[in-house]
Amino acid sequence: MANHRNLRLIAALLCLGAISTAAAWGRLGHGLVGELAQRHLDAKARAEVAALLAGEPDPTLAGVASWADDLRDNDPQRFKATSRWHYINAEGGGCGFELARDCPDDNCVVGAIEAQRAILADRSQPIEARRDALKFIVHFIGDAHQPMHAGSRTDSGGNGFQISLRTPIEPEAYARSKYVDGVMGTNLHSVWDYYILAGRGLGLQAYSDKLDALPWPPTPAPSTHDFMPLAWTGESCRLIDARGIYPPDDRHAMDSAYLDAMRPLAEQRVRQAAWRLAQLLNQTLGDAGTP
Ligand SMILES: [Zn+2]
Repeated sequence: MANHRNLRLIAALLCLGAISTAAAWGRLGHGLVGELAQRHLDAKARAEVAALLAGEPDPTLAGVASWADDLRDNDPQRFKATSRWHYINAEGGGCGFELARDCPDDNCVVGAIEAQRAILADRSQPIEARRDALKFIVHFIGDAHQPMHAGSRTDSGGNGFQISLRTPIEPEAYARSKYVDGVMGTNLHSVWDYYILAGRGLGLQAYSDKLDALPWPPTPAPSTHDFMPLAWTGESCRLIDARGIYPPDDRHAMDSAYLDAMRPLAEQRVRQAAWRLAQLLNQTLGDAGTP
């Protein structure tokens, strides 16, 4: 029988869950990045990915796209050691990331993508290390394109910016207690992780089909930036102000009008992430790379 102490414990755990799940695009966003990239791998890269992921419960890029977040529950030690790899923050304000200051010892999303790519490309590494590197890369390229993962405010990427969201969208299970009378108590990071894409009302395959029917590669046109993780986070950071991601006057209440207004941008970032992931994998594992 639950006594008060247990209830307090449960409440504390629910709170932890609310914070923890707001660590990245939600499963749908990361899954879309993986699925779209998978559809644009060349034959050799596709075979290499299949070999590396053999034995995974879902051996696809979409299937492993949230693994780096799931470590929080499945391997807390490892999650702790890698938690800084999901984002970068410009400590000096603005969007001028300085890696020495903002990414010491490669401990940010930019450094992590570069380091894991080196492991993936190194065929003398054990297959387990290369498999994990692939899973990290799929996830972190998604994160680097989520604007709230590359900001310069001091609100933990919008996790500290509270939002009352009027929405018919059912929250994820962990957050159900904060959904009252059609209003969800959440934060700006979670709005970007989950609500904007969930508001389209499509599952992974149907949503992938829709996004894949748009011109590929996505706009803007491919450039040298497609191979520079630091440039991706610079784009993310500049979008925060350029596209008014924080509501006008820092208002803390919003509804589906905000989700609808921001969805094209969120979908563009997902598609850019997928394009760049496919390029990276084709270069590193595929016909475009060295044999
Ligand atoms: Zn993440």
